[in-house]
Amino acid sequence: MKRRVVVIEGEDASPEAMRPSVEVIDSLGLPIEWIRPPVGRPALESHGDLFPEEARAAIDAADATFFGSTSGPSAPALLHLRWGLGTYANVRPARYLEGARSPLAEPAGVDFIIVRENLEDLYMGIEGEVEALDVLSLENRFSHRPISDMAPARFALKVISEEGSRNVIRFAFDLARRRRAEGHPGRLTCATKYNMLPRSDGFFRDIAVELAAEYPDIEFESFIIDDFGHRMVLHPHALDVVVMPNLYGDVMSDTAAGLVGGLGLAPSGCYGDDYAYFESAHGTAPDIAGRNVINPTATLLSGAMLLDHLGFGDAAAALRTAIEALYAEGKELTPDQGGVATTTAFCEAVRGRLGT
Ligand code: ATP
Repeated sequence: MKRRVVVIEGEDASPEAMRPSVEVIDSLGLPIEWIRPPVGRPALESHGDLFPEEARAAIDAADATFFGSTSGPSAPALLHLRWGLGTYANVRPARYLEGARSPLAEPAGVDFIIVRENLEDLYMGIEGEVEALDVLSLENRFSHRPISDMAPARFALKVISEEGSRNVIRFAFDLARRRRAEGHPGRLTCATKYNMLPRSDGFFRDIAVELAAEYPDIEFESFIIDDFGHRMVLHPHALDVVVMPNLYGDVMSDTAAGLVGGLGLAPSGCYGDDYAYFESAHGTAPDIAGRNVINPTATLLSGAMLLDHLGFGDAAAALRTAIEALYAEGKELTPDQGGVATTTAFCEAVRGRLGT
């Protein structure tokens, strides 16, 4: 039976990476039906709505979604994919490919995964004027000054729930266990700011400590996020799977991408209990739009994660191997990696390697 995958190309330079990447994956001859519902600008033109019901229904009925990057028009679809479908675990691998441009002296062998909580923390869109906090008589815990004294000022609310934390931390432990079976160390690192935020980040960490007892085969460690950042840059080889709340995960995973070659190489997948979607970690790269130079590696590697999710593990491995071979050879690389190849030339070279 064919697996159905919704494709949303996104905006700016994103379609330039998505189109040839889907062609590469399609060339593998797998039983995948690609569905392109009207989302974003095409939807606005045909339905007067950026995310019509038809598109929502197509996403819900599909086995997964392959998403580009959005600068706005496709954002309603992304909000549905994330909050509507409860995809709470954002998985962002940071794996060095030999030949990629890394600032590290010895990048070979760096291979870890950041699992970022995807739905909570400061990303709930709850902000306001500090005067609104007057009714709660909130004061600075350290200066004891009423928060409203700081006006004019704004606040943003950070919420860490027990269920959300359990979901993502359990996901990360399970991932560490699966990786251990493949020869990785079997280690989970939790990074929070539990010292300054004992009741919110401390709660997240406590849940991680509690769940660690259920995973005696997985070595567990916990660091304060700033200490973690320092360790990640100095000793990235020591990391296996890392779990953290949303904001830190967002920042640290882009930083991790920088360590192993930049955003052009950083894939991601967002998983919930019933749905998953896949997107490169980078944005729409508007500064290079229309030039056919966006590096499609992040998109292709996100596609490999999609293939794994659909049960096409051999095809995913073949795609990764083809990409790795191109980097190792240093040929057909895009300008962000010091090469002169176009996006489409890179994708054609991947197909050449795949023999498709
Ligand atoms: P967002 O807020 O959505 O993350 P942004 O503009 O902050 O978007 P990106 O769109 O990721 O960030 O771009 C940051 C820089 O990295 C830009 O200069 C962009 O051209 C570059 N960049 C991002 N992705 C790629 C890629 N795949 N290939 C080449 N350059 C890229």
